This record gives sequence, C-alpha cells and structure tokens, in this order.
Amino acid sequence: SERSLVLVKPDGVSRGLVGEVISRIERKGLKLVALELRNVDRSLAEQHYAEHAERPFFGDLLEFITSGPVVALVVEGPRAAAAFRQLAGGTDPVEKAAPGSIRADFGLEVQFNLVHGSDSPESAEREVKLWFPDL
Ligand code: ATP
Repeated sequence: SERSLVLVKPDGVSRGLVGEVISRIERKGLKLVALELRNVDRSLAEQHYAEHAERPFFGDLLEFITSGPVVALVVEGPRAAAAFRQLAGGTDPVEKAAPGSIRADFGLEVQFNLVHGSDSPESAEREVKLWFPDL
C-alpha cells in the first residue's frame, strides 16, 4: 500500500469544506495517517511547489497557499496518490474536473481549486517528508 500527501488549501478551509473532503477520503476507503491544521510559511510553500518555480503563476500560487491555514493530511491505501487525484478531479474545476469530483462540485477557478494531492508515488514520498518529517 502507498501514501499520499493531501492538502485542503486555504479556500477549502475558509469555505468550510474540510469535513466534506475528509468524508470523501474516508468513504473512498483511504486511511488517514496524519492530519494537521497549519499555517504555511514561504519556505515550505516554495519547496512544495518547487517544480512550478518558472511558471508565470508561481508568485500568485505562493501568495495564495500562504494566505491562510491549510489542512495537511497523509492518506494511505492501494494506489493512494491516483485514488485521491480521482476524488479531486482535474486541475481546472470547470474544464477538466470530472463531474462528481471535489473540484467540479465545489470549484470555479483554477487558482482556487480547493485541494492538492501528490501526483505520483514518488512525489508523495517527497511531499510527505517535507510536510511530516517525523512520520
Ligand atoms: P496540485 O499540484 O495543487 O494538486 P494539480 O497537480 O492539479 O494541482 P498543477 O499543474 O500541479 O495542478 O498546478 C499546481 C497548482 O497551481 C494548481 O492546483 C493551481 O492551484 C495552480 N495553478 C495551476 N495552473 C494555474 C494557472 N494557470 N493560474 C493560476 N494558478 C494555477
């Protein structure tokens, strides 16, 4: 079985969707192995999104992810990273996310797409270490 890092981003927390996201994770059958409400400092944000450093939206992305508390979770199960990304839906909540996914059901804009999930088992390993070094 595999682990994945999930974030309920500041928009999801401020809109009161933490319970909704956790409920979907649990109903899917993924196991919660870590869960924390925390503020994200600039250094953590930069490391988390390092692969996007050259993208035009990088500044906005850092500002957004540090704008308020996030809920960080580690979930575990068979194909955990892919399984959560199916729950989340594609990056653009309107053009890409499948109907019934978290982003499709609750999101409107790419920047405010509510959740993050590791995009592969390799990213998951890196991200779990970054967010939960003691795990
Ligand atoms: P995440 O990494 O958050 O799970 P993702 O893998 O679906 O999302 P990426 O392409 O890795 O999408 O982009 C990372 C995040 O950057 C997106 O979730 C979104 O919040 C933001 N983002 C992506 N594209 C844009 C854009 N064109 N404008 C603004 N923000 C964007």
